[in-house]
Amino acid sequence: MHAFARQTFLENMAQTSPNPLALHVVRAEGNYLYDVDGRKYLDLIAGISVCNVGHQHPKVVAAVQQQASEFMHVMVYGETVQTPQSTYAKQLVDILPTPLNCCYFVNSGAEAIDGAMKLAKKVTRKTDFVALVDAYHGSTHGPLSLMSNDYYSQAFRPLLPSVHFVHQNDIAALDAIPWDRVAGVIVEVVQAERGDQWSSAEFLQALRAHCDKHCSLLIFDEIQTGFGRTGKLFAFEHTGIVPDILVLGKALGGGMPMGAFLSDRRLMAQLSDQPILGHITTFGGHPVVAAAGNAAFEVLVASNWINEVYHKEFIFRQCLVHPAIKAVHGKGLMLAVEMANFETVQLCIEKMLNKGLFSDWFLFAPNCLRLSPPLSITDEEIHWACNRILEAIEEI
Ligand code: PLP
Repeated sequence: MHAFARQTFLENMAQTSPNPLALHVVRAEGNYLYDVDGRKYLDLIAGISVCNVGHQHPKVVAAVQQQASEFMHVMVYGETVQTPQSTYAKQLVDILPTPLNCCYFVNSGAEAIDGAMKLAKKVTRKTDFVALVDAYHGSTHGPLSLMSNDYYSQAFRPLLPSVHFVHQNDIAALDAIPWDRVAGVIVEVVQAERGDQWSSAEFLQALRAHCDKHCSLLIFDEIQTGFGRTGKLFAFEHTGIVPDILVLGKALGGGMPMGAFLSDRRLMAQLSDQPILGHITTFGGHPVVAAAGNAAFEVLVASNWINEVYHKEFIFRQCLVHPAIKAVHGKGLMLAVEMANFETVQLCIEKMLNKGLFSDWFLFAPNCLRLSPPLSITDEEIHWACNRILEAIEEI
């Protein structure tokens, strides 16, 4: 039966790599996943920064059940009043700084990045973008155009022209950008897929200054960093810099598929004028998804988990000391454990899985092990996880 399920997965579903992990998950609860053989795994990646309040939180499940019993899809985004959407949009707008006072819900991170790019072009009437080397913003054509790494993008060209790449924190390189053509600068406060590398305050300030001077929009991709992962609700709060467009995804939907871009309503109005329907989506802000996201957001804000993030980071850092660990990058519960090379990380992940720990690597930092557990992970679970990681390293 188990082999049949695996075969069905491999034979009928398009794959993303030749060697999928293919762990057969049948249940998830709190900070754990359970496989078809009843084995339990402590989740150290939270679906890659999605399940920040853990899996199947009772309040999220109840919200989904309640909304599903009332109505699901009724009409495309933006035509009917749907309380789950508008309530969640208001909650986000109320908590964000003034310029981010209007929310457009879509279905994924990539779609939200695409929407943000369109908004920047429409508002500025300019064409170009600035993006960071080794950033990942999604897999559809718009975000893929922002990918500097040819290995991933070459096969899909032509992509959007006129994207200027700069290295994270290279302030001098900004002087060479043709700003009169730049509609938007897309940047992560923490470059996640490069191994959780932080953009410096000076670099972000320089980007803000260039954008202000040249009427370009500053766009922060907080798809991975949002919803508490870095010890603040949003990572930009560490910087004192407010973007013109904030892009959200992953934890936004509380375990359901959702993306959003937020900006000033005067800018956002441009998407409904000349042409009308300048950006549309059938399922964006789906009521069940919005209810789940809203419930997860309320759980997160009412909890003490964001305040505990640094303490939990401290335990990880204190425990993960071993000659094979070269460094631990990142901040909060968004950490990258640097080892010798990709092969070491892969072996470590495999051995960790055998010990009941679920983890992963990074797209542009293959020598790093990803640690982005649910924020609800306990101190005891972190100690337990670190001991198992050290055991796994010893066995390599
Ligand atoms: N931006 C960042 C920083 C991401 O990490 C991701 C996904 O991993 C995306 C954008 C794309 O999001 P999605 O996979 O929902 O399209």
